[in-house]
Amino acid sequence: MRCPFCGAVDTRVIDSRLANEGATIRRRRECVGCTERFTTFESAELVFPHIVKHDGTREPFNEEKLRRGMLRALEKRPVDIEATESAINHIKHRLHVSGEREIRSRELGEWVMNELRDLDEVAYVRFASVYRRFQDVNAFREEIERLQSDASSELKKRQYSLLTPDEDA
Ligand SMILES: [Zn+2]
Repeated sequence: MRCPFCGAVDTRVIDSRLANEGATIRRRRECVGCTERFTTFESAELVFPHIVKHDGTREPFNEEKLRRGMLRALEKRPVDIEATESAINHIKHRLHVSGEREIRSRELGEWVMNELRDLDEVAYVRFASVYRRFQDVNAFREEIERLQSDASSELKKRQYSLLTPDEDA
């Protein structure tokens, strides 16, 4: 690392310690040329990919915008804020581990829909209807029917397990 005082390229580390609860490494360095000392901090750089919108324009990922969109879909639904925040964290994690510099807004939208589907089906349909701008009524109806059949097969399973004597007992 170049010395900020004399510009020499040769500096040595004389002390290294963790800072910021282990999220940062603080290094004390000394310039081999002018012997001045200075400090550097090293931490992981977590950069969100840019979002490529439908019209091809790009914008930085905006967590607040994501949160607003999800909260609008979840309005007056019985989902607590912690579950919502945890869903937002899942999405942020996926963005980080994608390693991509750009992600299509459509893909991000699918991730949001996956999270909402787990949280609350009404919120999911609200979001999906806006997000996908269901091209026609049929696509929307198919989605509703799919949700209903998921729900009824879930219910049947539950009823089945209530009616079936537990053989292990
Ligand atoms: Zn120097």
